[in-house]
Amino acid sequence: MDHEESKAAVNFIQEIINQDNKTNKHHGRVHLRFPPEPNGYLHIGHAKSICLNFGLAVKNGGLYNLRFDDTNPSKEDVEYIDSIIKDVRWLGFDWDDRLFYASDYFEKMYDYAVSLIKAGKAYVCDLSPEEIRKYRGSFNEAGRESLYRNRTVEENLDLFKRMRAGEFADGSRVLRAKIDMSSPNLNMRDPVLYRILKATHHRTGDKWCIYPMYDYAHPLEDYYEKITHSVCTLEFEDHRPLYDWVLNALNLPDLPQQIEFARLNLTNTVMSKRKLRRLVEEGYVVGWDDPRMPTIAGLRRRGYTPEAIRNFCERIGVAKTNSVVDIRFLEDCIREDLNVRAPRTMVVLRPLKLIIDNYPGDMVEEMESENNPEDPTAGKRKIPFSQILYIEREDFCEDPPKKYFRLAPGREVRLKNAYIIKCEGFVRNEKTGEIKEVHCTYDPESKSGKPGAKRKVKGTLHWVSAEHALKAEIRLYDHLLLDQNERAEEQDEEKDFIKQLNPNSLEVLVDCLLEPSLAGMACGSRYQFMRKGYFCVDPDSTSDKLVFNRIVSLRDTWDRILKAEKN
Ligand code: ATP
Ligand code: MG
Repeated sequence: MDHEESKAAVNFIQEIINQDNKTNKHHGRVHLRFPPEPNGYLHIGHAKSICLNFGLAVKNGGLYNLRFDDTNPSKEDVEYIDSIIKDVRWLGFDWDDRLFYASDYFEKMYDYAVSLIKAGKAYVCDLSPEEIRKYRGSFNEAGRESLYRNRTVEENLDLFKRMRAGEFADGSRVLRAKIDMSSPNLNMRDPVLYRILKATHHRTGDKWCIYPMYDYAHPLEDYYEKITHSVCTLEFEDHRPLYDWVLNALNLPDLPQQIEFARLNLTNTVMSKRKLRRLVEEGYVVGWDDPRMPTIAGLRRRGYTPEAIRNFCERIGVAKTNSVVDIRFLEDCIREDLNVRAPRTMVVLRPLKLIIDNYPGDMVEEMESENNPEDPTAGKRKIPFSQILYIEREDFCEDPPKKYFRLAPGREVRLKNAYIIKCEGFVRNEKTGEIKEVHCTYDPESKSGKPGAKRKVKGTLHWVSAEHALKAEIRLYDHLLLDQNERAEEQDEEKDFIKQLNPNSLEVLVDCLLEPSLAGMACGSRYQFMRKGYFCVDPDSTSDKLVFNRIVSLRDTWDRILKAEKN
């Protein structure tokens, strides 16, 4: 952890803060914000931004705000606001009373727009949206000035006031900044500041029918909240001159500084809210909190811990160039966290009946088991053992290949925390040919505390007692997208990501058997099912039947993945 912290302490944004502190640029203040637009649920990319912004504020003894950038009424919803508040809290951050809404600044933003008009720095333009686009030109071609560019201040003030009063139709007029139609930066070619949109806003209702554009609103929001460092993702780099222009044109003091960093991309998933919304609305997943989704709500339901997500965000670091992080790195972070804290239990996912012919039919023994070998304080528990058990179907093989060390005719294995057994035969279902049950004998001397306890055999299997086991449904997940590389998604927007969806991203097993200690476990409880991975109780559970999600399998650690890839 020390190492991680020192690495994070020298990220380039921290260097900027250090420099600003030295020159006393912000009078020693450090104030950051996380400004989500409430048009979807937060995802793991947002978690990176939250951890970065709020983490920097904490490390520098500063403050952080949660601000809803709710300037676009058409796609926004109160459901999203509630989910965002819940998710940021769950990640472990507390903004005190510093929760803000951009919509609370609409009146002030309007006044500033009037000031810009009075200063001759903004004008009302009657070109249609298509004409504005055409007049803007391109990288190789300078833009053309609008014929409305030289309206008088009086006319502009009058028209802008009437835009606000609702006299004009949507799209018929806009307010534009008067900057430079031949600027090499397209964002500076008289960008639109306000548009007419007769839509009901989830907070301001029908009070407004003109709404500020992001590039105008955002610097003002930062300014009102006395933000010192306005951290955003790289795609806004070309917007920074406009961010500065707005604040300078208004002659405001103590300006915030926009700083860009590389957004998080993950392999095997999609991250844009537009695409996530499509998955939800078109029914490819059960909702924003589907455990396959890269949303915070999905990761929480899947069984991720806030600690694992924060650790992931810390370890991937902060960069100035875009890259794609392997989703297996995220998976390894939760594995590492749960390894030390998740109790071990025995659960059979695909049961095969196993009968110990020489074990008394009416006998039940309590076998003692450690709850977590990684945690000396976790204690022990008792697991009932009897003549009829269930093992994993894949742990028996009629005709075993080389290196198969599990159960096969004539072979011995140890049942975890119990006896060594030997396979004496098996019975088939006459109709299907499928193996129905396996018959064994046990070595009574091989139990813990007996002389044969140390006897070695090659395989150890988990099991449950038929009479005592609880039924459960278990949902196994695989990656949402088959395609490894989300960059492919970014580069080729037209490529339909729906075609890349993994058809096997969910497998539901309905006949799973749990050891009885798992009875009545609370929603959200996490366990290691020995040899099978880490699992979490899903909210779909009822008093009769538990439902579990597999959080992650017990695969190789990240170090081993990297080593294997090098070779
Ligand atoms: P999306 O592109 O997923 O729809 P967005 O950028 O439109 O996301 P906002 O609600 O505007 O979503 O984002 C709030 C903050 O989170 C912004 O500061 C944005 O830069 C940051 N953010 C969004 N996605 C990522 C990401 N993948 N990695 C890091 N930061 C992100
Ligand atoms: Mg956005």
